[in-house]
Amino acid sequence: MTAATRIGIGHDTHRISQGGPLQLGGVAISCAFHLVGHSDADVLLHAVTDALLGAAAMGDIGDLFPDTDPANRGRDSAEMLKVAYEQVHGSGYDLVNLDCIVFAERPKLGPHKRAIRARLAGILQTDVARIGVQAKTGEGVGVIGQGQAISAQCVVLLEGQRGHGDTHL
Ligand code: MG
Repeated sequence: MTAATRIGIGHDTHRISQGGPLQLGGVAISCAFHLVGHSDADVLLHAVTDALLGAAAMGDIGDLFPDTDPANRGRDSAEMLKVAYEQVHGSGYDLVNLDCIVFAERPKLGPHKRAIRARLAGILQTDVARIGVQAKTGEGVGVIGQGQAISAQCVVLLEGQRGHGDTHL
């Protein structure tokens, strides 16, 4: 039997507010602002979580961790990603690779991409070579370019484990 492959996509946006540090991709970046949200507002980890859940047709982060549940207030997004991937993995899929883009006018993310890749690889218990991280500015245009928000997108590829595939669907 040929192992099933599944593709998933995730997207998220969070608003910027004064005072650092900025929590992004599971890394605390020294910065004059942070992102606002019900959890720790790590926009990149939320996009990655949604891409993994979406690839396995297991819903999204809001289904797994509703913002109506007080237990999710201020919650560590790295822990949420870990739980989500454990469920995806438990349903018969392994991560092949992921690629993501952070849309942020500032701070400059070039110096932080290596740390973010390593952190994502650590959370997902995979090799850093399977993790791609890109960064783009908004060229001064719109809510990203004017520094009002940061967005992130992620695509993932999953491969069915031997003897698994679409059996959970
Ligand atoms: Mg979010």
